[in-house]
Order: sequence, then C-alpha cells, then structure tokens
Amino acid sequence: MRHLLLAACPNPNGLRKPTNSGPSGKPRADALLQAKADATLLWIKAQEDAGLDIVCDGEQSRQHFVHGFLEKVEGIDFDNKVTMGIRNNRYDAMVPQVVSALRLKGRVHGFEAQLARAHTKKKLKFTLPGPMTIIDTVADRFYGDKVKMAFAFAELLNQEALALQADGVDIIQFDEPAFNVYMKDAADWGVQALERAVQGLNCTTAVHICYGYGIKANTDWKSTLGDEWRQYETVFPALARSSIDQVSLECINSHVPPNLMKLLAGKDVLVGVIDVASDVVETPEEVAGAIARALEFVPKERLFPCTNCGLAPMGRDVAWRKLKALAAGTQLAKERLESTSAFRQF
Ligand code: ZN
Repeated sequence: MRHLLLAACPNPNGLRKPTNSGPSGKPRADALLQAKADATLLWIKAQEDAGLDIVCDGEQSRQHFVHGFLEKVEGIDFDNKVTMGIRNNRYDAMVPQVVSALRLKGRVHGFEAQLARAHTKKKLKFTLPGPMTIIDTVADRFYGDKVKMAFAFAELLNQEALALQADGVDIIQFDEPAFNVYMKDAADWGVQALERAVQGLNCTTAVHICYGYGIKANTDWKSTLGDEWRQYETVFPALARSSIDQVSLECINSHVPPNLMKLLAGKDVLVGVIDVASDVVETPEEVAGAIARALEFVPKERLFPCTNCGLAPMGRDVAWRKLKALAAGTQLAKERLESTSAFRQF
C-alpha cells in the first residue's frame, strides 16, 4: 500500500485583500509579491503538516484558476471585460476578450513554482487550466472558431508546462470542468487539445474534471442532474486512450456512479473523497468508506485520494480541517487494507 498517495489542490482562501497598500489604496507590487510568497509557503507547510504526500502551491498567486494564466497572454484585453454566460450559460461571468493572435508574454507561474520547489521535498503538483475550459471563460473577438482557439491556447499551455517541468514540478494537472458540460466536444476534440498541451512532457500529467466549486450556481445546477450523474461516461473512454497519466474526478457526496471509474483502466485515478460544497468536515470513517467504494473499481496502486475540487471558496479553518480529514481517512483506509491482506496470508 505504499502507493496510496494523497493528492490535493487546496487553494484555500487565496489572497484577496493584501493589507500593505500604497497611496492609491492598491497594494504595492513588491508587497503583493511578498504576500503571495508568504501565503504559498504557509500552505505548503499546512499541506505537509496535514499529512499529504503530494503538495501544491495552493494557487495563492492567482485570483482565478483561468484568469491567472490569461493575465500573462498577449492578445487578451483585460481592460475591457464583458459579461458572458459560461459553462453552457450556467452563470454569467466578467471575462476578458481575445482581440489578436495569442502569445505568451513570458513565464506565467515561474515565481511560485520555483518558490514551492525550493521549499518542499514532497512531490510537487502544479495546476493549469485546460484548453477547453479556457475558451469557455474568455470572449472571442479574433479567432471565430472555438477549436482553433483551443489549440492556440494548448500551444501556450504546453510552453508553460515544459517550463514548469524544468522548474522541477513532478505532476502537471490541467483543470477541465468544461469536459463535464460539453461532453461530446470533450471526446471529439477536447482530449486532443489536451494532448497538444502535454506534448513533450515526461513528468506525470493529469486532468481534473469536476462539477465545479461549491458556489450556489453549481450546487443549483447539480440539483438538476438527476439521481445518476453519467457525464464522465462520454469522455473517460477518450481519456483512457490518451497519453494523460491521471484523471481526477468528483466522487464523495455526488451522484457519480462509482463503476464509471472502470472506464479509466490503465490510468491513475484521483478520487474526490472530500466534499468542497459543504463546510461539514468529513470523518476519517467517511473518507475511508469513499476510498473503499472506489477500490471496488480501481486497483489500490492506482488510487490517489484527493478533494472533489479546489477549496478556494471555503473558510480557512474548514479548508485546513478538510486537509487533515483527507490524510486521516486515507491512513485509516491503508490500515484496513493492510490488515485485510495480513489476514489473507493465514
Ligand atoms: Zn474542480
């Protein structure tokens, strides 16, 4: 059971209101950078203390999981954001506009990736938004073709991913909640766009597909999805055939039939055993129970317990206690597996 590792992408309470302000009331650039560095180190320590085996930078340096990447892309107008219905019009968001050909201005996440790498000996995971989710979170005034624009972003993601690998990142995860909204597109070309983004990488690669943060628009949407959520059924076979190593999915407290995990044979499966839409902290028993159900369909050496999604909208204390619950529940599941296999030896 050495391989039942923990993975999580906490993003708890990102930096929203730095206090060290300049005369304009805006945070001074150097103070903001220092505050981001401090928060990154704090959450690496918190993940280690909680008992996680795989840690991340906590996404403390970005305001939004998609826009954090777009801010470093030339060809995007951030000064004139527009309101756009996203995730198939589930909710409106203020989004920047693509106004010319896309190009990276330079490194996107070099600062926080190098900082994190220098301060942990644990395996380091880093997240990027996936191409399909990016094009669903930006207004197109230039390409006029969503697939073409997705592949243009995939090229840029690939540049940054290769640089993150050179920084010493062990696992690069692409967040693709849009795969659960545009299932046919995801199977038809979304996975191919992802393949473009991971081209040339030899670190571990992952894709995270969830039903979104625990915000009201998402929980309302989930209540319309019925008793069985089968969205994964369309895209998992395409992912099983792809070169992506790991698939992260939502599980606990969802209506995802656990047997859909069988469609990911040959892949590592990052199973969500912590609910991010509820402040109720899971007991170790509940987490171990969710892991046991997943073990019916995923071999133990391929199962990585993690959170259903990022903890960004949650309170700091709850986020911290949920990280500890993840570790404690996984430990309990490990002990049970070990005692079962010891029993079988008699
Ligand atoms: Zn998510």
